[in-house]
Amino acid sequence: MPLFGHRDFDAHEQVVFCHDATSGLKAIIAIHDTTRGPSLGGCRMWPYASEDEALTDALRLARGMTYKSALADLPYGGGKSVIIGDSHTMKSEALFLAMGRFVDSLSGRYVIAEDVGISVDDVEVMARATRHVAGTRAAGGGDPSPATAYGVFMGIRAALAHAANSDSLKGVHVAVQGLGHVGYHLCRYLAEAGAQLTVSDIDADAVARASREFSAQTVAPEAIYDVAADVFAPCALGAVINDQTIGRLKARVIAGSANNQLAEPRHGVELARRKILYAPDYVINAGGVVYISHEGPSFDETQALAHVARIHDTLGEIFTRAEQQGIPTSEAADRLAQDRLRGHTTTAKSPAAA
Ligand code: NAD
Repeated sequence: MPLFGHRDFDAHEQVVFCHDATSGLKAIIAIHDTTRGPSLGGCRMWPYASEDEALTDALRLARGMTYKSALADLPYGGGKSVIIGDSHTMKSEALFLAMGRFVDSLSGRYVIAEDVGISVDDVEVMARATRHVAGTRAAGGGDPSPATAYGVFMGIRAALAHAANSDSLKGVHVAVQGLGHVGYHLCRYLAEAGAQLTVSDIDADAVARASREFSAQTVAPEAIYDVAADVFAPCALGAVINDQTIGRLKARVIAGSANNQLAEPRHGVELARRKILYAPDYVINAGGVVYISHEGPSFDETQALAHVARIHDTLGEIFTRAEQQGIPTSEAADRLAQDRLRGHTTTAKSPAAA
């Protein structure tokens, strides 16, 4: 398993393999780029089938965080960590304390937060071993997922404004895949705005709750790709836009929170060819990281959410550039992020958590 020759290696500054025999911790911390500030990114706990799969996830997600922070104008770089293991059976205090110690050994070059499989409680255990954490209750905001959902909601409005000349959700049919921390709150925003919802999840309780609270139609997980909706909002897994699904999609807008939605970059090209407007994942799902960047003693929720709402205008700029330059929105987002990295201009305040 080469690192420098790995297909997802993109000049990452540092990759740390962490092992703690006592707790059984096996983890990888990937720091992609610290040009704009300390790398910030969540920790994912997942039963990866192989170490290569874990490394691939860490490398790709860390790079995504660099671009995400650049486009959200945050004084952070990009990093991410993965813990190899089942979050249902392998969590322990010793495991998270060990993870916290590894983060601490990087002296602030990486700031850890929650991600799939890791809760605010878990990060709070890590915080006993390092101060380089974000997204804890003590730091101000707590769980950033509702803010991520708000950012996705604003992003869907931006996409509708571009694709349909109106950002109203009234009567708009949205298919939501995944009703977890983000998907649930997204449904709430959408339902309040008058959208018609079709939802799916592998968790039957989550489906029943959305059906009850938001009068959502429900479909089996695999059937969500065939729903004749206006918007498809992937809020569960990565790589859901792939050779098997792309021809089944009926929506003219794809806008959801999941990371790495495109199985490969060529799927972004294919979406553009099919005239499906894709809201690049790391732009539309930046709400959580924007929110926690406001943490600190002077945390102001209204200000933090106003910053999250700027996702609307950033996406609008990306959609317009993509149209003017005749390129997929995924590429327009990458180019804009690279411009901002090279220019390294930020109007944001200094990092709170580092
Ligand atoms: P979560 O684990 O709380 O929720 C994921 C949900 O997806 C679960 O309810 C799960 O049962 C469901 N799911 C799994 N496989 C499915 C399938 N095949 N079909 C339908 N549903 C399925 O995670 P989350 O925090 O809500 O995050 C969702 C996505 O958004 C992830 O890709 C995550 O990386 C991304 N994201 C989250 C945040 C955040 O603030 N939580 C921020 C940025 C990006």
